Amino acid sequence: MHRYWGIILALTIAVSCKDDNGQAKELAQQVQQVNELPKINEQYGFNLDEFAVHLDTVRNGDSFGELMQKNKVAYPKVAAISERYRDTFDVRKIRVGKPYVILKSKDTVGQAQVFIYQNDPINYTVVDLRDSAHAYRSKRKVKYVQREVSGVIETSLSEAILDQGIDYNVTHNLANVYAWTIDFSRLQKKDKFKVIYKEKYINDTIYAGAEPVEAAYFEHNGKPIYAFAYENDSLKNIVDYFDQDANNLRRTFLRMPVEFGRLSSRYNLNRRIKYYGYKVRPHKGTDYAAPIGTPIMATADGTVIESTRRGGNGKYVKIRHNGTFATQYLHMKAQKVKKGQFVRQGDVIGWVGMTGNTGGPHVCYRFWKNGKQVDPLKEELPQAEPLNDSLKPDYFAYITPIKEQLDCIIYPKVLLEDEDDLITLNQ
Ligand SMILES: [Zn+2]
Repeated sequence: MHRYWGIILALTIAVSCKDDNGQAKELAQQVQQVNELPKINEQYGFNLDEFAVHLDTVRNGDSFGELMQKNKVAYPKVAAISERYRDTFDVRKIRVGKPYVILKSKDTVGQAQVFIYQNDPINYTVVDLRDSAHAYRSKRKVKYVQREVSGVIETSLSEAILDQGIDYNVTHNLANVYAWTIDFSRLQKKDKFKVIYKEKYINDTIYAGAEPVEAAYFEHNGKPIYAFAYENDSLKNIVDYFDQDANNLRRTFLRMPVEFGRLSSRYNLNRRIKYYGYKVRPHKGTDYAAPIGTPIMATADGTVIESTRRGGNGKYVKIRHNGTFATQYLHMKAQKVKKGQFVRQGDVIGWVGMTGNTGGPHVCYRFWKNGKQVDPLKEELPQAEPLNDSLKPDYFAYITPIKEQLDCIIYPKVLLEDEDDLITLNQ
């Protein structure tokens, strides 16, 4: 079956079990508001109707001085403001391709009154050239709209979501939430999911991305797994995902330190190598071959205790995870972390290289348990930190309404009715 047609997914806007209309209406209104342009043409804190508006992007060779001179601003004024407000607006740093707005007087002169430089989709810098010229930075209004998405999968999650025009980050975020509990390469037909997250809008109208998953539900092989984002450790601002029984969905260790590495040499205390005349040269690491420059990730949360270069190990990083476990990553091209730094599981700590004794680009992953190197592929790895008992009452109170909300999300009605048609289409 063609993949596209094999996927059935729909966006659903909130439908509450308790009140079929109330919440859904409210959300629909919010979405509508988002799609409607504001009536007063106010942007960047100015009523654009009062000016002749010139929108453009910085082009090769443009300079602030030239742009201003073209728009009838006297050079001494430009020089003065460039000098006086260098910390706010460094005219030497305007970049090709960045959008800007010039608000000009509506009279025949058409002199620039205000110059607005869009630093990024949210932040902008205003150079007000009127009277006592001044410059300042500001932000566009950001609005968050909660979104609910549900779907039934026939092939892959990512295609399902992408084909519906939903931000790729939603797929990515959802896959990360369930990375330890669901193998996304082995999804089953009719696996279902629901996800609640927020979308960010600038000035109510411009879509600016998906926020992390707030709560989700995944039914894999008929087994439901809830996930709720919750701050486990307020000191480190750690947000983890827990199920309805407060079990952490994350495992303590990633399976391997590179995303797509090939296991090239296992831990082997009796390894014999031709090069060394078949003498026993124990290999206490687990090697993953990957191209130079491949990001190497911390396999668990911890503190960097070494980030250095030494002999055959080349450039390496060692992380202490707790009193029992430490991990070490050898032959890096370069490290990205410093001694003493706290890293989270999945953080990039360096890149695959060939420093030290190595015949090809790989990361030699060493797994320490109570000061001895062991085989991580044979270890019974501990579960990630459970929720602290003292936090449980708060957690359960927090998730109760969200779980209800999840339970109330309906799957798309088009679900299977179209399946015959879909199959026909692909014959
Ligand atoms: Zn090795």
